[in-house]
Amino acid sequence: MKLYNSLTRKKEEFIPIKEGEVRFYSCGPTVYNFFHIGNARPFIIFDALRGYFEYLGNKVIYVQNFTDVDDKMINRAREEGITVRELGEKYIGEYQKDAEALKIRKPTYAPKATDTIPEIIEFIQRLVDKEYAYEMAGNVYFATEKFAEYGKLSHQPLDELEAGARIEVGEEKRAPADFALWKRRKEADEIAWDSPWGEGRPGWHIECSTMANKFLGANIDIHSGGQDLIFPHHENEVAQSEAANGRQFANFWLHNGYINVDNRKMSKSLGNFFTVRDILKQVSADAVRFFMLSAHYRSPINFSFDLIKQAEAGLERLKSCVSNLEFLRENGTNGTQTLDTAAYKQKFLAALDDDFNTAAAIAVLFDLTREINTLAEGASAETIVQTLLLMRELAGILRILPDEAANGADGDGEITRLVSEREAARAARNFALADQIRDKLTQMGVTIEDTPGGTRVKMD
Ligand SMILES: [Zn+2]
Repeated sequence: MKLYNSLTRKKEEFIPIKEGEVRFYSCGPTVYNFFHIGNARPFIIFDALRGYFEYLGNKVIYVQNFTDVDDKMINRAREEGITVRELGEKYIGEYQKDAEALKIRKPTYAPKATDTIPEIIEFIQRLVDKEYAYEMAGNVYFATEKFAEYGKLSHQPLDELEAGARIEVGEEKRAPADFALWKRRKEADEIAWDSPWGEGRPGWHIECSTMANKFLGANIDIHSGGQDLIFPHHENEVAQSEAANGRQFANFWLHNGYINVDNRKMSKSLGNFFTVRDILKQVSADAVRFFMLSAHYRSPINFSFDLIKQAEAGLERLKSCVSNLEFLRENGTNGTQTLDTAAYKQKFLAALDDDFNTAAAIAVLFDLTREINTLAEGASAETIVQTLLLMRELAGILRILPDEAANGADGDGEITRLVSEREAARAARNFALADQIRDKLTQMGVTIEDTPGGTRVKMD
């Protein structure tokens, strides 16, 4: 599988550090509000990529954090007259509701910044001890000049970054590009923790470096997020993690493209700022998910309600293909024509293996839909069953079919799942498990036959 790595600006063969395991960190939401359509894109895309790794038989350790302390949190909590913790709890709950509607899996770990303070302090202390960081009047800054490779992710030399950076009033740092690791408490009512540098709170960047290190180790497979996070957030994470650990942090950096709304940059002042919660009042969550996956993740996309409605219509085509196939399976056909399901599967997976090109993969499903719709009753009974299973299996990788189409009226999506689990077990040479699954399928009235072209399935 090839993935485009922002670090090298090349598509590279993805080889996990440990065979069969993917250690994956993705930046999560700041929980001061409902999340917006721009945030939804990386949450959906990178979770879908995680799902694909799992489909391929990997164990994925997926970490997505909750930033639950920063200036926005503090200001919003003051406005609402609640504590920062209460605000965080509230919007973590709201995040989970929207994420579930969008079929985003729960991360393996979803740490909160406020639960990671001791580790963050320890991490900062390591940087201070190694003289990559310094304290100034209760604030601790990272000394960018000490990290020779600063700028390598955003591909900008330090002097250019220095020229563009500013020292804000009241900031006492040595160089403009230096950034805060620890921020001293400014107001008496502000949330703060004790530290070797006095009462304060962590900066944003250090939280992600610490959590990645805590749950995934010093060297991880993939770090992802929106393109807008490359600088300064991810650049600073690279500097912190690599300075502290003396080794490469993430092998792959993946970034999704921008999302515009009605062809303009999304902003509150333009009035084109949509939370997912707002959008779900007008369109289905399945349509939003399908819309996001219908474009390649690195392409910029434009969001509008018209475009979501188009996505909804496309999804409807896949859905009716599945229900037609169910109908033909129930009622039987006398046809003899076949189609090459193995070739479709191979094309679909090849698209995902090419920098997770979900747009091209979904196009394969539409091709399959067209061909089987043309054959219709002319298709053999076996072809109908094979095609139905394949549609469910491939769409299931991306979780794009609405539940009723994915699972079938009598829950026969279970068969699809078992068949693909058995294939994964065989690929991993776990034949005992593969046989167990075959027995279970036999009990369900499903016969399995392994051919060079893939698994053939017959249902009673
Ligand atoms: Zn982050």
